[in-house]
Amino acid sequence: MDAPAIVLLGPPASGKGTQGRLLAREEDLSYFSTGKQLRREMKAASPLGKEVEPYLAAGQYVPDELVLALAIGWIRKVKGGWVLDGFPRTLPQAEELDRVLGVDGARLRALLLEGPVAELERRVTDRRECTACPWTGTRVQAELSGGVCPTCGATLGQRHDDDLENFRQRLKAFEELTLPVASYYEQSGRLLRVWGVGSPEEVFQNVQSELA
Ligand SMILES: [Zn+2]
Repeated sequence: MDAPAIVLLGPPASGKGTQGRLLAREEDLSYFSTGKQLRREMKAASPLGKEVEPYLAAGQYVPDELVLALAIGWIRKVKGGWVLDGFPRTLPQAEELDRVLGVDGARLRALLLEGPVAELERRVTDRRECTACPWTGTRVQAELSGGVCPTCGATLGQRHDDDLENFRQRLKAFEELTLPVASYYEQSGRLLRVWGVGSPEEVFQNVQSELA
């Protein structure tokens, strides 16, 4: 059987990261998050990190050539099935991914996580993450654990780009630049729409039934 090739699409705070990690764990796939990789580069103050910082701080999309180098480099190295979160994010990126995949592009499935804007805004202001490991959770969970990570004990914080103004910028960018990617996959019969409201487990059931 061919290894799964899954792309996660959705507005900011639609739960792509959570669903991506669940999919990776349950289906034994490699997981790539553009946002996470870029934030890591920024923290390390690498040349790429310095280049992308102004875009992320303004809630703008990072230019295609920077993201492509990072994501395509990863895909070329990975063995077995994979799930991508935050890539491809623009039409040129999606076309380049198809070019790289060749005939394997036919088995790609794009999952579009959908939900009302008010729900996404609530999640953005509520979201907390670990500064050291992949743990993410809510404000309430962070308070219950005394502000330290339940997994590794490091400090919990908000993502630097999680404020409402930044969210609205990212939502606008999503509508202008990523919705055309969803249409691109829909036209070739590779788009699956998933209702993204509910607990992570409930949404994951929707994901699994779409992929089945
Ligand atoms: Zn942690």
